[in-house]
Amino acid sequence: MAPTVYFVTGANRGIGFGLVEALANRSGVLVFATARDPARADRLNKLAEENKGKVVVVKLEVTSDEDAKKAAEEVKKYTDKVDVLIANAGVSTGSGPVEKVSTADLHTVIDVNVGGPLRIFQALLPLLRASSAPRVYGISSTMGSIAANLDATMPAEMTGGLYTVSKSGLNSLFARIHREHADKDKMTVVLLCPGHTQTDMGNAGAQFFGMDEAPVKLDDSIKGLLTFIDDESGKYAGKFMSFDGTERTW
Ligand code: NDP
Repeated sequence: MAPTVYFVTGANRGIGFGLVEALANRSGVLVFATARDPARADRLNKLAEENKGKVVVVKLEVTSDEDAKKAAEEVKKYTDKVDVLIANAGVSTGSGPVEKVSTADLHTVIDVNVGGPLRIFQALLPLLRASSAPRVYGISSTMGSIAANLDATMPAEMTGGLYTVSKSGLNSLFARIHREHADKDKMTVVLLCPGHTQTDMGNAGAQFFGMDEAPVKLDDSIKGLLTFIDDESGKYAGKFMSFDGTERTW
């Protein structure tokens, strides 16, 4: 039987690495795991070495059109389809109140957090179309929820900065992908919030909440995310789900 083919961006550390590590433990999988600098992705390279034939490291700087195209070409050397795309790579550039943030940071955070998923979605689309059940997951954040931004009871830290703006943009992009590809390409498109998770990014943000580290353990986040990523029923299509099983407002 052909393996289930996954493509995970930003897989050299954090949530992306956690997802690839969990998937690599399974049989019948082929996982393309991206890093923008594979030569320095030591943990990921080790994982790929230990899981030869199951984990393949692919170079991908998500702001590069050329890298996205080359990544798709690399996948084609191994397989003619991608079943599951997980657009995970992201940055949290540009914190602070609106009156102080810079447009340079805006460009960066949008290019990575919205442009990145768009580029790789476009590059992999022919391969996704070749899957009998293509699924596309965007790793977003509750901070990207416009409803949460308008909720005056949410702490200001939850709604500040350009990260929030970029994740709202990602949510909007995924709404479009869902609208345009759910019927036409029988594609399941789901947005996921991993929770405030113990990664470099999550722990760096913990200070805003007066915490030493983020509250959600990486394993718990990964387990929760995989319940949606593994679901082939389509019941989460067009939804914004949190790792803890609750639905988020867009
Ligand atoms: P980390 O900072 O730990 O890891 C980010 C990953 O994205 C790294 O692999 C990094 O690669 C990659 N990346 C960043 N910029 C680029 C780029 N330009 N091109 C290619 N890869 C890039 O973050 P997390 O693992 O915590 O975050 C993963 C996702 O989850 C992000 O989209 C984030 O917004 C989202 N999220 C995280 C939360 C948390 O609390 N941790 C909460 C809500 C959402 P490199 O090592 O080269 O920098």
